[in-house]
Amino acid sequence: MIPSQVFNALQARQAEVEAFIRSLVEIESPSGDAEGSRGVVDLLVQAASGLACVDAIERVDVPDFGQHLVVKAFQKGSQQQILMVGHTDTVHSLGSLSERPWRREAGKIYGPGIFDMKANCALAIEVLRTLVELQATPAYGVTIVLTCDEEVGSLNGWPLIEKVAKEKPARCAFVMEPPASGGRVKTSRKGTGIFAIKVEGKAAHAGLEPEKGASAILELARQTEQLHAINLSGSGITLNVGVVHGGTRSNVVAAEAQGEIDVRFSTEAESHEIERILSSLKPIDERTKVFVSGSINRPPMERTAAVVELFEKARAIAADLDFDLGEAQVGGASDGNFLAAMGIPVLDGLGISGDGAHAVHEHIEAGDIARRGALIGGLLMSI
Ligand SMILES: [Zn+2]
Repeated sequence: MIPSQVFNALQARQAEVEAFIRSLVEIESPSGDAEGSRGVVDLLVQAASGLACVDAIERVDVPDFGQHLVVKAFQKGSQQQILMVGHTDTVHSLGSLSERPWRREAGKIYGPGIFDMKANCALAIEVLRTLVELQATPAYGVTIVLTCDEEVGSLNGWPLIEKVAKEKPARCAFVMEPPASGGRVKTSRKGTGIFAIKVEGKAAHAGLEPEKGASAILELARQTEQLHAINLSGSGITLNVGVVHGGTRSNVVAAEAQGEIDVRFSTEAESHEIERILSSLKPIDERTKVFVSGSINRPPMERTAAVVELFEKARAIAADLDFDLGEAQVGGASDGNFLAAMGIPVLDGLGISGDGAHAVHEHIEAGDIARRGALIGGLLMSI
């Protein structure tokens, strides 16, 4: 009956948990703001260091960014670990807080970065506190990794997560990112790739002798049309030529043109397929040349049998707590993509329900805090 006990304990502490979340929101920490990052980490360390289950706290300096935080709990006697991954940086620039201060209205709490994902950083620590209170010990160590550069691509944060994930075999990873609409957890995320296409044509006077030219712009347009046709094929691949440049003057047949391409795919097989398609593009007008560069940058987080098993566990716990937990497949990538590529079963989007990530109406549902905490606590105890 652990989930309902965690729920009751968190509900009894609702005011304190909200105050903790508020203190984190009220230190602005846009990616790259070292002072803000350290301020947020200070508060998290303060909260974690008093807990009997915490074995180690590590602050990792990141030049020009601030600090990552690693909190290890319940590690004694366990050769394996459960990872909880999140981030302390936000996309909201300094000054957002004075424009949109903490506000609690009709059960919603507004604040820059609260939904994505300061409330979830607080919740991770609060779940540990509650388990200690209930004298509940998970079967595996619990390792929380909160990075400070996720919103700008985890260049420094991902290697740290990977290192921590390799220290002890990971049973599974919970990514504390915001859930999809309706509080649904994310059981698969598409992989992503960024490519560029460059076309070389032949310049000519557009009025005097256009037949001597080969338009790079026309060729790029035809290639774009062909590539976008992939979106209609019913596979998990989506492709978008999102930026184009080309030509020099309106009276010159364009000698060159370029496009930037975003690709998404659901499986590793599809990532090979898209690489094959892009690397074998042939010019439609044979007087032009077509070059493609770029690569896959995030592998897909696939909905494997192990992921489904985790989700079913979460769903059963939610049902015990009287709510229906849904799942979502999303196109955007997270650190969960890399964890999945390491072969670790990942449940993503475990954060508190709300809406407006990265937007001015960003908020969480106050009534979901204890419920999500109970779901996470229940999961930690059931693995
Ligand atoms: Zn996030």
